[in-house]
Amino acid sequence: MSGRIFTIEEKCKACNKCIAVCPVDAANQVYRAYDRERKVAVGERYCISCGACIKACDHGARDYRDDTERFFEDLAAGEKIHLVAAPAAQVNFPQLFRLFGWLKSLGVGNIYDVSLGADIATWAYLQAKKALHLDSMIAQPCPSIVNYCERYLPELLPSLAPIQSPLICLAIYLRQVEHLEGKIAFLSPCIAKADEIEDPQ
Ligand code: SF4
Ligand code: SF4
Repeated sequence: MSGRIFTIEEKCKACNKCIAVCPVDAANQVYRAYDRERKVAVGERYCISCGACIKACDHGARDYRDDTERFFEDLAAGEKIHLVAAPAAQVNFPQLFRLFGWLKSLGVGNIYDVSLGADIATWAYLQAKKALHLDSMIAQPCPSIVNYCERYLPELLPSLAPIQSPLICLAIYLRQVEHLEGKIAFLSPCIAKADEIEDPQ
């Protein structure tokens, strides 16, 4: 299986909890395994990477793929990598500065807080609201919402804010203003962010 969210077949008990919480009708697909047991797979084409099924599956049968191993392999290979950390890291890691210190000892370059990108994004939202005379817009930092609009409600696309997420605003700032070189890694609690980062737009 190649999708970001996937089912660990041998753990799946076909309890349907994933189907109950999924916001997309076709993203969970029932099939029979080789032993004829009923299983529920993730339909990669339809899944918006929201992660709701991972939380709901109390059999531990839903999991996700990220770049953690690739990050450490690249660091070990001597790649120049800077880190941008989601503000949520302050909640998720009680000793955040020890984590940062350890990452620095492994070779991570600069470390930035995505809050800086949120300031840039807020500024840009206000500029766009004024320039385009917008009464309302759908904020787009959540890639699952963007995925959903792109695939299932394209009529809402014109209402999506014409502003990048705080993460991407920060990355653009670091590249274009600070002329930061090297790779930029993102420490985030959000599975779907990888969809945004890999999106050529
Ligand atoms: S919630 Fe988990 S165990 Fe239940 S059907 Fe979905 S993947 Fe299988
Ligand atoms: S990650 Fe979200 S969209 Fe994808 S299968 Fe799970 S609940 Fe459905």
